[in-house]
Amino acid sequence: MLHIKIPTRREVIEKAKAEGKKIAAVYPIHYPRELFRAFNIQPIEVWGPPKTDTKKANAHLQSYICSVVQSGLAFYLEGGINVADIIVVPHSCDSLQGLGSIYKDFIKPKQELITIYLPREKNRENVEFLSKELKRIYKQLAEFTHFEPDREKLLEEIKKEEEIDVLVAKFYKSRENLPLSSREFYTILRAREYLPVELFKNILNYALLHSSSGKLKKTGIVISGLLPEPMEILDVIDEMDGFVALDDMACCMRRVYGEGSADDPFERMAERIVNSTPDPTKGSSVDERADFLKSLIDISGAKGVVFYNVKFCEPEYFYHPLLKDKLNESGIKSIVIETDINEPISQQTITRIKAFIEMLKEESRWA
Ligand code: SF4
Repeated sequence: MLHIKIPTRREVIEKAKAEGKKIAAVYPIHYPRELFRAFNIQPIEVWGPPKTDTKKANAHLQSYICSVVQSGLAFYLEGGINVADIIVVPHSCDSLQGLGSIYKDFIKPKQELITIYLPREKNRENVEFLSKELKRIYKQLAEFTHFEPDREKLLEEIKKEEEIDVLVAKFYKSRENLPLSSREFYTILRAREYLPVELFKNILNYALLHSSSGKLKKTGIVISGLLPEPMEILDVIDEMDGFVALDDMACCMRRVYGEGSADDPFERMAERIVNSTPDPTKGSSVDERADFLKSLIDISGAKGVVFYNVKFCEPEYFYHPLLKDKLNESGIKSIVIETDINEPISQQTITRIKAFIEMLKEESRWA
């Protein structure tokens, strides 16, 4: 166990405001953090938040909309986003696209509203498309802030994010050597959703200093989905003498981008997002996703995959039966768990996860 003091969102926001920064409330999933930082804007991501009372939002949304969007809208309607100067809604899926339209056509917030159209497949045309899209957002931010960061400033911020991505990859690689529970590990990783880049870097470096040569002697699990909420799932896995060895989650691994190669800052930011790991919201093929999951299992030595799926998350739903079959063909066991980020984890879910890990442990004993 490490004692790391991570500032709260509120503390980060207060400090950023005191330093004259603007705040952007950013909905999931992909966006260029570096572009906002170049304008002296602190991105604070809104993944829910979990355990929100969504009654106010329900009047605006169909009953089959996922809890991430329900909470995200309810949070705004309750004044949770009042502190933000800008609201960013990437069009990651139909539900978020719908949320963008609700803001634009019905709510008309006092904040500057920015939407991001994200292309799907990895190819040159899509890098060009996203590059143009990011130039459009640059212009919008320049008009809003009356500031125009130059090419060098943009590249400086891109470099910082690229360095952080390398550091995050190192953090993942050191997972088995770190004296951290799964919850502690993901609390640190997810602090990237709101911390300034330097502070996040310091926290990762401090945690990495405690990496040891002794490995965790536990059953590794790969977790796949949007986000590890409710986080109790991580405690249940640890309780069973398991640990999350690697993940394929939208809030974490799917946003560890590679280095761009272009000298043009917009193209470089676009490359990083377009060429990221397979992702259901980007329409990656089943084979690509299955291969990626298998590679996570191979690298980490994990014994199985938990699909931790937000109820009504259509992009994820489509893949599960096919992915389960593909993994099964390779001898990899998996389980699909449905979750609502606003509800406590059910006893039935706890029992299923425990039984799944017990089965993996039993199989390893006989392997
Ligand atoms: S949980 Fe799924 S449906 Fe909901 S916002 Fe995320 S990707 Fe979209």
